[in-house]
Amino acid sequence: MNRHSVQDAKSKKGAKAQKAAATKNVLIVGVGGQGVIMISKVLALLCQTQGYQVKQSEVHGMAKRGGGVFSHVRFGEEVWSPTIPMGEADMLIALEWAEGLRWLPYLKPETGIFIADTQRIVPPFACRNRAVGAKTAYAKETPAEILEKVADGYALDAGGFAEELGEPRAANTILLGALSASLEFAAEDWLKIIAKFVPKGTEKINEQAFGKGRGWIEEVRENPAEMLPETPAPAIPAIPAGEVDISLDIIDAWCKSCDICVRLCPERCLELNEYQIVRLKDPDACTGCRLCEWLCPDFAITVNRVRLDDIKKNKRKAA
Ligand code: SF4
Ligand code: SF4
Repeated sequence: MNRHSVQDAKSKKGAKAQKAAATKNVLIVGVGGQGVIMISKVLALLCQTQGYQVKQSEVHGMAKRGGGVFSHVRFGEEVWSPTIPMGEADMLIALEWAEGLRWLPYLKPETGIFIADTQRIVPPFACRNRAVGAKTAYAKETPAEILEKVADGYALDAGGFAEELGEPRAANTILLGALSASLEFAAEDWLKIIAKFVPKGTEKINEQAFGKGRGWIEEVRENPAEMLPETPAPAIPAIPAGEVDISLDIIDAWCKSCDICVRLCPERCLELNEYQIVRLKDPDACTGCRLCEWLCPDFAITVNRVRLDDIKKNKRKAA
């Protein structure tokens, strides 16, 4: 090889390294059913439409819902590999708190941005002790402790915000809004792509959810004191004292037949029916502990617990 071609080879290598260095790495993590893949598809398609080369890889959790899911999205002028090396993620987006903590070593220590929903989906194996009030084997770190350790961190109650909007399943779009505030693309371009991935008829609520997440990050950047208050570590929900009227609301259309509630109910009073939808087979055995409501990844169960004393009081008031 002559001197000229050595120099050519060196400058080509330099240009390649520069293009690769400009690659943005976004890691999205959560558990099955939360919408990790939806977020990564929206981001990947948006980057493509903006003229970037994109590589995306994903690993779905267990076939049954509730397992860990993650997706790597890398975009830039030229992207060489679909996976983000440890310590190289520019952004880590966590739809579930403990999953976010698990992936922290992938974040760039000096400049990485961490955005996490404080929603805690306690995995079934962390609830082996199903006694009421028992501690769960779940990450104990609080948002304040974690945000101290990262270069730029945000902990938000995306699940709570989504419930306020009347659509608990829009938490992933709230996270998309939060993610968008750290990338260069215009809000209208995000919304055009999001509309392709959300169910028909929910475009408006998802637009609001996107605006909520984006607006929240902007507010917090102005005033960090707006950040979320501390949330207590989860424990098996307590049963209220006294006589209680218990009923379960089950939204059949939201049940994905994962079987988690059936297996974890301490009283074994749930089962899947012939359509593989959960049902309460033994209402008398149900203690109203709310574990099923808490563990369902799809918000399909609500446990109503009303103290009989309160019912009587309300009746007296009405009379
Ligand atoms: S609330 Fe009832 S059905 Fe649900 S886990 Fe507790 S005992 Fe089982
Ligand atoms: S209701 Fe039970 S079976 Fe249905 S999705 Fe929720 S946890 Fe799974």
